[in-house]
Amino acid sequence: MDEILVTRSSMPQFQEYVDEIKELWDSHWLTNMGVKHKELQKKLEEYLGVENIDLLTNGHMAIELSLQALNLTGEVITTPYTFASTTHAIVRNGLTPVFCDIDPNDYTIDAAKIEQLITDKTSAIVPVHVYGNVCNVEMIQNIADRHHLKVVYDAAHAFGVRYRGKGIGSYGDVSCFSFHATKVFNTIEGGAVSFRDPEFGRIMYGLKNFGIRDQELVDSVGANAKMNEFCAAMGLCNLRHIREGIAKRCVLVERYSERLSGIAGLKLMPRQADVVPNYAYFPIVVDETVFGVGRDEISERLARHNIFARKYFYPLTSSFVCYENQFDPDDTPVARYVSERVLTLPLYEDLTIEDVDRICDILLDI
Ligand SMILES: *Cc1c(COP(=O)(O)O)cnc(C)c1O
Repeated sequence: MDEILVTRSSMPQFQEYVDEIKELWDSHWLTNMGVKHKELQKKLEEYLGVENIDLLTNGHMAIELSLQALNLTGEVITTPYTFASTTHAIVRNGLTPVFCDIDPNDYTIDAAKIEQLITDKTSAIVPVHVYGNVCNVEMIQNIADRHHLKVVYDAAHAFGVRYRGKGIGSYGDVSCFSFHATKVFNTIEGGAVSFRDPEFGRIMYGLKNFGIRDQELVDSVGANAKMNEFCAAMGLCNLRHIREGIAKRCVLVERYSERLSGIAGLKLMPRQADVVPNYAYFPIVVDETVFGVGRDEISERLARHNIFARKYFYPLTSSFVCYENQFDPDDTPVARYVSERVLTLPLYEDLTIEDVDRICDILLDI
């Protein structure tokens, strides 16, 4: 049997990409906000339903530079149940992450537990729309308003998600998207920020382009995080097929749900109200005492059939070796519980219903 990995990059037809990049051979304009960059930026503003987008080299730089652009200080309330990037971006800005526990149903930050973590040093909240699940955006905004905090969403998983009729990137001060090869929408590597405040946009533009305002004026100490034309071209191609891709994922998620719901000891993600989802991931949380077999054992048994699921997110970022002795994972018991039991099953556009059935058969055999 062929290997099934947890994810597989979506790609356009080879010829479609070749046609898209042909102009670059005519113009010799390969980066620095060229035509592909501009076109993708505009198309994404429309597709994502947000006012402003700026394109970047990757999702991590979107978060790291956003925190810098907002000139944050002191402490930032965030979640340890995320990819390394979220926490690293905070620490790399010289800020202190303060970890809040997560909601046991959708695994996003538990908004009811944020306020008790606020001190006079707190400057922002950095929640994550984990697996494309929408955070409690109303409550988070309410807390932020009352305490004068910025809200920067890590929306790396939430491409195309809509909540109450609005694009997910229109909530908070800034939302950071990842267009990494493994995400629902990819530009090979890439990312973007969505934001409302034009002043934020101006600062971000400086940070992504050495602070160069024009040929003779450099007005900020910027880095380099510009998306190049080849990546933008990949994005233009992939964006043409995104609806179809998400529809394919939907069929697979429904099949997984049908086969695995109601199995004692396997917890699936509930569907969120008022949300148009993107079907980015299919995590299960395994309760060994009920299911009989634990997460690690399931993962190994699937691997024996050449199926590679991932313990995503394990370990918690607060347990990383690079942060040894700095944080206590017991401060976030729900996050700890979930991360020790979660297994993310393979899910990508080209996965077939037969593959899903095979994966479910192995699981149910156990
Ligand atoms: C992928 C991801 C990132 C980082 O994005 P890159 O484009 O890989 O830099 C950040 N946060 C989360 C939750 C992610 O899944």
